[in-house]
Amino acid sequence: MNPEANLFIDGELVAAASGKTYPNINPATEEVIGAVADAGPQDMDRAIASARRAFDETDWSTNHAFRHKCIAQLRDGLQAVREDFKLQISAETGAPLFICGEMGPQCDLPIGFIDYTLETLPEFTWSRDAGQSVKMGITSRRLVEKEAVGVVACVTPWNVPLQINLAKCIPALAAGCTVVLKAAPDTPWSATMLGRVVKEYTDIPPGVFNVITAQDPAEVGDQLVCDPRVDMVSFTGSTAVGKHIMARAAQTVKKVFLELGGKSANIMLEDADINGAVLSCLGVCFHAGQGCAILTRLLVPRSRQAEVEQLLPTFFEFIQYGDPSADGQIMGPLINARQRERVLGYIEKGKAEGARLLMGGATPKSLDKGYWVEPTVFTDVTNDMTIAREEIFGPVLAIIPYDDEEEAIRIANDSEYGLSGGVWSADLDRALAVARRIRTGTMAVNGGVYYGADAPFGGYKQSGLGREMGPEGFEEYLETKTIAIAE
Ligand code: NAD
Repeated sequence: MNPEANLFIDGELVAAASGKTYPNINPATEEVIGAVADAGPQDMDRAIASARRAFDETDWSTNHAFRHKCIAQLRDGLQAVREDFKLQISAETGAPLFICGEMGPQCDLPIGFIDYTLETLPEFTWSRDAGQSVKMGITSRRLVEKEAVGVVACVTPWNVPLQINLAKCIPALAAGCTVVLKAAPDTPWSATMLGRVVKEYTDIPPGVFNVITAQDPAEVGDQLVCDPRVDMVSFTGSTAVGKHIMARAAQTVKKVFLELGGKSANIMLEDADINGAVLSCLGVCFHAGQGCAILTRLLVPRSRQAEVEQLLPTFFEFIQYGDPSADGQIMGPLINARQRERVLGYIEKGKAEGARLLMGGATPKSLDKGYWVEPTVFTDVTNDMTIAREEIFGPVLAIIPYDDEEEAIRIANDSEYGLSGGVWSADLDRALAVARRIRTGTMAVNGGVYYGADAPFGGYKQSGLGREMGPEGFEEYLETKTIAIAE
């Protein structure tokens, strides 16, 4: 592997001003795989200043054709380093290599998504004529124009770091914004490599794109969110940190875009294909359940509960884990020891509150290194239990029985989150009618996949504000200006 250990500030790959670094740890082996710069306030200040200057003093925000060329160069650069980048991402996230290819969101797919931006950017309408109007005795022609928001702080989590870094930075850059990307402390290389690729493969001017990594996010994170030179914060992470950021950003009335947590329901209706519905539950093991949109509550009709309980463990037995480089694996470890303890704590809470453990529930005995937790399934869960209400972010499924469709819809919606969901039925109209009544940003009908560069993704309620990807994801990074010309 040839990772990048430096920050990227004002067009240069640089060490932290203090000279400090911190170790990057492979969560599958607990081994130190390298080091990365540990930025402090001085580095963050330089990154913000350079992003501000690049926005105010270059034609980056107005030269649409130049930005298109630069983003194509960035895509080509990422394609050139892709095979090595994949190894780095797998090593720092613990994600199996299988889900860094075309079968998952960790590397190849999000790099491919840049094509969507390159295809749609030239078509975008930057200015529209809103026609003539006569008001207060004055005849005016009005133009409605779209402009870049300005300097954007992109703050990202560790679970799918490259995907989320790109889902923010690519539309922000395409819109004409300049960017300070603050990476998650556990997955720094997924961000620092972007700095290297921008430097080595693109004509992106100094200051347009900056990367900061820091072991303790509180200091530089707050600094970035509160700085008046920053116009917008684009955040993905936990609901708790999202609320904190929103409150801090309010001091300077910044635009805030939030992708937060989820506790999504997978509703199996009575007439559903049981094999499809139960197979979809393997999603809780995908990347060890460290995905915000994973369907972690399985709602089953009481009449089919026994059948589901019998079938589910036979499917879960196929989940293999231990060596992230082995073929076909979808489950890796949790990101760090703290997350593993947190997940094990939820499992204990599930037992204490009366849920019945169907399988798993511990760390695997066969693995003495790495932050692993067994695929775990609880049944007889009620929706008021902690494991049905809080985001666990581990490989834990809660089976919640219900009596009729109305109750299933009520339970699915009885959550402070509203990110995603699923519904299974042999009757498509019935499934669609249920999907439309669930208060979430995405829904999968009979296992449909909404994930893609051209489809918006995001949450209702406390799962967030705004949408990532698709035309909606691009427009998040734009301001609207109306110009009236007296005639
Ligand atoms: P987190 O909220 O702890 O951290 C996210 C980012 O915020 C990290 O870069 C972190 O360093 C930074 N941060 C922490 N405190 C900060 C502060 N005071 N100021 C500025 N930045 C700060 O989340 P995490 O543990 O890295 O990721 C897991 C969470 O992310 C889960 O809740 C998951 O659901 C959520 N998530 C949501 C989506 C989505 O699209 N909705 C996608 C992936 C993950």
